[in-house]
Amino acid sequence: MANIRTETVTHVHHWDDNLFSFRTTREPGLRFENGHFLMVGLKVDNKPLMRAYSVASANYQDELEFFSIKVPNGPLTSRLQHIQPGDEVLISTKATGTLVAENLLDGKNLYLLSTGTGLAPFLSIIRDPANYEKFEKIILVHGVRTVSELAYQDFITQELPQDEYIGELVKEKLLYYPTVTREAYTRTGRLTHLMTNGQLFADLEMPEPNLADDRFMLCGSPGMLKDTCAILDDWGFKESRAGIRNQYVIERAFVEQ
Ligand SMILES: Cc1cc2nc3c(=O)[nH]c(=O)nc-3n(C[C@H](O)[C@H](O)[C@H](O)COP(=O)(O)OP(=O)(O)OC[C@H]3O[C@@H](n4cnc5c(N)ncnc54)[C@H](O)[C@@H]3O)c2cc1C
Repeated sequence: MANIRTETVTHVHHWDDNLFSFRTTREPGLRFENGHFLMVGLKVDNKPLMRAYSVASANYQDELEFFSIKVPNGPLTSRLQHIQPGDEVLISTKATGTLVAENLLDGKNLYLLSTGTGLAPFLSIIRDPANYEKFEKIILVHGVRTVSELAYQDFITQELPQDEYIGELVKEKLLYYPTVTREAYTRTGRLTHLMTNGQLFADLEMPEPNLADDRFMLCGSPGMLKDTCAILDDWGFKESRAGIRNQYVIERAFVEQ
């Protein structure tokens, strides 16, 4: 199979009934930018069954990490959710994607706005020292329905600030804002609502966004992207497209069928 390699699963973690993460070996020649996605899959009936997956690990790490949904009856994830260490998965040899800082105009604050598994590319981006050098603040917002879907909290709040290489940068520059819509939690409400009523920025003690200072990366459901882009457009921000750098970039966390 051209452009597809076989890698071995090294670790699997189930967050709840709907979400899991896994790590695999990484072919040393695989190159990607933090924020990119690959095609990941399994051999089914002797044919590759592949889906797009954002890489959650950083490009300097030896293994690849992915954060996955479990779609009931989903062609791939109904199978993929059962993988165990030692199993084989298929991974494409070419990465691509729009969620890279080079696609944005320079700015002071980088907002990473995600819902659900849309968190995945941002896990890679917040491990990248170059992003901390480029921006004064990196603000990671993760919107989910239930508290159990707030995956990677310990990694973001405990592990990363202790990292021997980027821990100090993380402590100084990374702000994390998890919000839950369907259960009681410290912070509740839809991301879009928190943006339009200003609560997100007030809670973070950040000024209201302005075109000179603020940059956005968006990754979530088609509905989340549509609503969030409408807000940013209304505020005068423009999406980077066709090689023209502007104030925000988007990536679909999945496609509705
Ligand atoms: C650029 C890109 C990056 C992606 N990155 C990831 C990732 O990092 N992690 C991941 O889990 N998925 C990701 N996806 C979605 C992924 O490609 C598959 O759709 C997903 O793995 C389900 O595959 P499936 O064959 O089981 O079901 P599919 O037939 O692919 O999907 C069935 C239905 O399930 C729903 N669905 C699919 N994926 C999701 C999701 N992630 N969250 C909520 N609902 C979903 C949709 O309604 C979809 O129509 C990405 C998709 C795109 C386009």
